[in-house]
Amino acid sequence: MDFRTLPSGPVTLENVTVPACLLGQPGDLIRTSLSLANGKISGPQNIALDMAGALVLPGFVDMHTHLDKGHIWNRSPNPDGTFMGALNTVERDRTARWSAQDVARRADFALRCAYAHGTTAIRTHLDSIPPQDEISWAVFRDLRDKWADRITLQAACLIGCDQMEPEGSFAHTADIVAQSGGVLGMVTYPVPDLKQRLLGFLNLARARNLEIDFHVDETMDASSETLRLIAETILETGFDAPVTVGHCCSLSTQDEARALDTLDLVAKAGINVVSLPMCNLYLQDRHAGRTPRGRGITLVHEMKARGINVSFASDNTRDPFYAFGDLDMLEVLRQATRIGHLDHSDPDWVQSVLGNPARACSLPAPSLTPGAPGDLSIYNARNWSELFARPHSDRIVLRNGAQIDRTLPDYAELDDLMEPK
Ligand SMILES: [Zn+2]
Repeated sequence: MDFRTLPSGPVTLENVTVPACLLGQPGDLIRTSLSLANGKISGPQNIALDMAGALVLPGFVDMHTHLDKGHIWNRSPNPDGTFMGALNTVERDRTARWSAQDVARRADFALRCAYAHGTTAIRTHLDSIPPQDEISWAVFRDLRDKWADRITLQAACLIGCDQMEPEGSFAHTADIVAQSGGVLGMVTYPVPDLKQRLLGFLNLARARNLEIDFHVDETMDASSETLRLIAETILETGFDAPVTVGHCCSLSTQDEARALDTLDLVAKAGINVVSLPMCNLYLQDRHAGRTPRGRGITLVHEMKARGINVSFASDNTRDPFYAFGDLDMLEVLRQATRIGHLDHSDPDWVQSVLGNPARACSLPAPSLTPGAPGDLSIYNARNWSELFARPHSDRIVLRNGAQIDRTLPDYAELDDLMEPK
């Protein structure tokens, strides 16, 4: 079989390997057939092709990205690879250079990468300190329309909790978010009046019927416990729209009993967690001349054991927060597997880049059952070891049952945006 050419039109793909959890069955990988007709997964068709065990997944959901920051590395590299280096460099780049055209071209570049790798839905955070909120949210609305038939786009605003004034300009930002069908987001770290700020933030969200997406405790400083405060505040207020928290790195350095007690609260509050393991590995526990000891990843196994909805996502790509990355969710799952020891564990971790993020973002669950969209990625791999051993740059991606052109955009396309200013 030539793995790279599939017939167009109705076909049954015989002898494919799929995770049982995607067919609603118990167990690990199973051999089966998948059929496609009229752009959807269908019942059996007359034309059949032996796929020799090729592993098949539905479209990926990348629920935590930063399309507005992406691909600025060539003009604004992180000077020392640290979190503060990233924060300061991005702020300088943003205030000097983030015109609508600059953000739109870099975001479109990133979306083309994600599309080529097999992603069908993306949530991006958007730096939303005025006046950037008006600029970037207008770009987002345009891109969402332009990409509607290829990638479902969501956005969440991003602002530091000590800059977020519920009674001040942030109310206007929240209006832009609401008018754009967005998600209310904020970065939480220990500040003295965080509780008050959280209550104000939840009120803004409730008044506008908004879902919530926080960046939380992105540090190895064990004393950073804003996750605990968020969970307590959600429980106390009975806030009932979906809430997501990202990062939660400090759980990995806290006293174990205390961290697990916090997770019990997170589970009780029904909070979704998204872990960003590649970005954490890059930024966390970085000190010049010292080998990093901590991995930065949050307590994903302990979360899963408590029934917390855990996802993995890309986070940053080629910007000061992460020098690498290409919005490839197979890479994210491969790296998460290695960093978090997802192997030798439950067989359904693949849902952490599929059904789990879809649930957290109130999107339809990616599926391989008849009637689901014919959005597939197909790999020259027959088991997890073969899947995770290679980058699978030769994977086939089908959208609505048809094979897409997977050519990645050329970095040189953005060269005119990278000139020094
Ligand atoms: Zn992020």
